[in-house]
Order: sequence, then structure tokens, then C-alpha cells
Amino acid sequence: MNEVKNTISIDIHNLTKEYGTQTALDDVSLSINEGEIVGLLGPNGAGKSTMMKIITCFIPATKGEVKVYNYDINEEPMKIRSLIGYLPEQNPLYNELYVRENLEFIAGIHGIKGKEAKERVEQMIEKVGLTKEVRKKIGMLSKGYKQRVGIAQALIHDPKILILDEPTTGLDPNQLVEIRSLIKELGRDKTVILSTHIMQEVEAVCSRAIIINNGRLVADDSVKSLAQGESLEQKFREITRNI
Ligand code: ADP
Ligand code: MG
Repeated sequence: MNEVKNTISIDIHNLTKEYGTQTALDDVSLSINEGEIVGLLGPNGAGKSTMMKIITCFIPATKGEVKVYNYDINEEPMKIRSLIGYLPEQNPLYNELYVRENLEFIAGIHGIKGKEAKERVEQMIEKVGLTKEVRKKIGMLSKGYKQRVGIAQALIHDPKILILDEPTTGLDPNQLVEIRSLIKELGRDKTVILSTHIMQEVEAVCSRAIIINNGRLVADDSVKSLAQGESLEQKFREITRNI
């Protein structure tokens, strides 16, 4: 069982993001403890990816404060990037590279070189279940295996936090089950935030669910409490029905 600790890994206060006149996040506050596996839910356009991009220091916030292990996103973005592994919605892979080449390249970006890089790449290949497909070019892999490479890439520098933006979207039922169990396994020693549209996935993988709608936080509770009395699915529909 994943052990949730009392150390705060991500602390967000009154976060707002505006793209011109479009408010993508509206005064969101939450904090995530070390060891949690959190499902980030919300309809398309709710602001999930925006929140992830801000936490990972890819885009700036308009207002509010975000801290990762007490480092401020505006002051220590490089430190924060070293603490987070991020798999964006569009898996950023090089189709022309072989699996090992791709992973070694990413290791290099993180300053892991030579023998250490090679060892780390082999460990990741094993960890995410890529051994069978390792001789292929990325472009030849199925979507499920591409996701494994994306996850391996996110893990290469051994981050404390893993942020996965819709990691199972577009997978077939078998791949879906496999990637879910991989994420659950990774959650044993990392804090994980994943966004998804599949309620069963949250019930299968996450301890806590955060629901955002139109940029606002509308629910934040354990999956168990949110699903109580009705299903999580029903609860989600109620909460996000055009407020
Ligand atoms: P989600 O990931 O929950 O589907 P997003 O965070 O991608 O939502 O988007 C939230 C809102 O912000 C949407 O209305 C979207 O159209 C808008 N948005 C996202 N990125 C940009 C951008 N770069 N410029 C303008 N509007 C954007
Ligand atoms: Mg998104």
C-alpha cells in the first residue's frame, strides 16, 4: 500500500491563469502530500493541462502561488523540474530514434551521462516493461508502448513527483489495464498526479480525486468519500453539469 506522508509536495494558493480574456484557472487552492496518487478530473477545457503546465514550470501563472517542496515556481524552476517527471498530453517522442537512443538523449538533457546514463536507461526499460520492444524505432511502437517510453522518459532522473496528462487516452483495453497497473506500481514510491476522463481509472488507481470545472475547483476528497452513496461517475456529472 502506498504510504501517504505528512510532507507537502505541492502547495497551491489562489492560482489563476488567464490566456488573454479566457480564464483557464480561477482562484484554485490545494495541497498534495508526498505519496498521494491524485486523479485530476474535469470536462474538456476545465483547466487540467493548464494546471499541470504551471506546476511543471512550462507556463507562468497569472496570479497566485505554487510551491513544490517549498521551492517557488517563479524562483526555482530548474530545481522544480528536477523534482518532477512530466508526461504531457502529446507524448514528446522522436519517432526516428530507437528506444535506447531516445531515453539516453533525455538522460543527457538531465545531465546524466556515460555509464550512469546507460545503466539508468536499462533500469527504466525494465521498470516500464519495454524489454520486448526495445530494438524498435519509436515510430514502430504501438500507442501503449509509446506511452511506456513517455513514462520511462519522465522517470529517467528519478523525480519525486510524476505528473501524467491523460496517460491512458487512446489506448486499447489491454494496454489500458497494463498502463494503469504500471502507474499504480510507480505510485508506491512517488507522488503521482494524473488527469483522466475515466472514472473507473480513478477508482482503480487513485486515493484522492480533484475535480475542476470551468477553471474552478469543485471537489477535492478521497475517492471513497466522493463515490459514497452514488458512483463517482454520477457525482462527477452532478458537479460538472453546467454550473
Ligand atoms: P483541459 O486540459 O482540462 O482540457 P486546458 O487546460 O487545456 O483544459 O484548457 C483550459 C482552457 O484554457 C480552455 O478553455 C482552453 O481553450 C484554454 N486554453 C488553453 N491553452 C490556451 C492557450 N495557449 N491560449 C488560449 N487559451 C488556451
Ligand atoms: Mg488537457
